[in-house]
Amino acid sequence: MPENACPACRGRAGKEVERHRDPVSATDYALRRCAACGLVFAQPRVSVGAAWYAAAVPDETPLPPERDWRFRAFLADAPAGTRVLDVGCGEGQFLRLARERGCPGVGFDWDERRTARARAAGLDACTRDWEAFLASRRDGEFGAACLFDVLEHAPEPAALIGGLRRLLEPGGLLAITVPNESRPLPLGREAYDYPPHHFTRWTRSAMKSFLEREGFRVLRQDAAMRESFYLRDVLAAKLAFEPAARLARRLRGDSRPRAASEPAQAPPPLSRDAARARSGARAALFAVYSAAAKTALWPVAAGLGAWYRAARLDPGHCLYTLAQKNG
Ligand SMILES: [Zn+2]
Repeated sequence: MPENACPACRGRAGKEVERHRDPVSATDYALRRCAACGLVFAQPRVSVGAAWYAAAVPDETPLPPERDWRFRAFLADAPAGTRVLDVGCGEGQFLRLARERGCPGVGFDWDERRTARARAAGLDACTRDWEAFLASRRDGEFGAACLFDVLEHAPEPAALIGGLRRLLEPGGLLAITVPNESRPLPLGREAYDYPPHHFTRWTRSAMKSFLEREGFRVLRQDAAMRESFYLRDVLAAKLAFEPAARLARRLRGDSRPRAASEPAQAPPPLSRDAARARSGARAALFAVYSAAAKTALWPVAAGLGAWYRAARLDPGHCLYTLAQKNG
């Protein structure tokens, strides 16, 4: 594939739309938009290891799976008895819910600590080399594959989908969720939506043309805004947590000289729980601050959410796509 080629459509693409320096690894990235399909993609795209994730991404408590609309959407779409493969299964929240709803399955995750917890809960989940995992499975073994917020992390999305396609039976389902690139960003882009955390940014049409190219038929897509809590959390991160973290760093006097092995600056807050403190006293203080900030911002978020739902197509933060393998 030529340099600068779009990883979704292989078009010779790429007007540069943004530059980004990852504060953890001090790596510089260019973000380009494909002129053909509209995908925004990073260069370079090299997977970072577990150490980067440990430094940059907080260990969040997931939503109870019953409340996760991505899971509910897929389980409403999939016939009972469908055998599922959950790529990026984490601790197995979706696998457990799917099993309860009559869809037994297998999980894969790149984080051994999380799949160990899934196995301890009686689920079939593993961590190993991805190519070895693919080679260990039978052609057409699964009725469905799910990638919940995984594809945007893949350096080469076509390779990931191509490998999965073989494991699906003819007519098998593929469910993908990604951050919706058409969502409103009232205070700018979230800190987590940059490389090397996310390498690609998808619109509805970029996803559809990508999956059609990879041998799938798109059955439905959904990027509706269901609730305003995500907007509230984005506002809280930008207006309350990030300024508080900056102030805390200043108070600690983080102007001391750094060792060469230290990151250039503290990792950015990546999510609504990013500023969660680790010690008990700090955690309690942060919980009070967080609750107060979210309560104060709730009416603003609710008003903004109502406006976006009325005025915009695809205002949701998540894009769900259900596709079916051809042949
Ligand atoms: Zn493209």
